[in-house]
Amino acid sequence: MKICPNCASENQDNAVFCSTCGALLEKSEAPQGAPPPPPPTTTPAYTPPAQPYTPQPYFPPMSTDGLAVASLALSIASFFFLPLIGAILGIIFGQMSKSKIAQSKGTLGGEQLAQAGVIIGWVHIGLVIFVTIIVLVLVIVGSSM
Ligand SMILES: [Zn+2]
Repeated sequence: MKICPNCASENQDNAVFCSTCGALLEKSEAPQGAPPPPPPTTTPAYTPPAQPYTPQPYFPPMSTDGLAVASLALSIASFFFLPLIGAILGIIFGQMSKSKIAQSKGTLGGEQLAQAGVIIGWVHIGLVIFVTIIVLVLVIVGSSM
């Protein structure tokens, strides 16, 4: 038999929650001589004070723009597992992020991330074009021999 510490009603030995009030029952009887369990709290459950609704800005001050992070991540990913697509998306996201940050009047950060994403994206595209030209030249030279 377990006695609920909250409402003192009797519950089965294997019960985890009180069947009367739903309180968590103690897992085992306290050993003899141990300090008694704290008395049941009589204070009512905490309720947050009611606040009049005040419109909040959608973004907290100086949060990093998620698009800027995505831009940098995609541009870097283009070198590893998203060739071209990652760089193009990185440039697009970076430009979107930069204009978003510019319009946010200082509430959004991460412009350096967006700039880096755009630059790395263009570097990747430049690299792809460069490699493509090299390969084309090699193919043309090779086929004309
Ligand atoms: Zn109870």
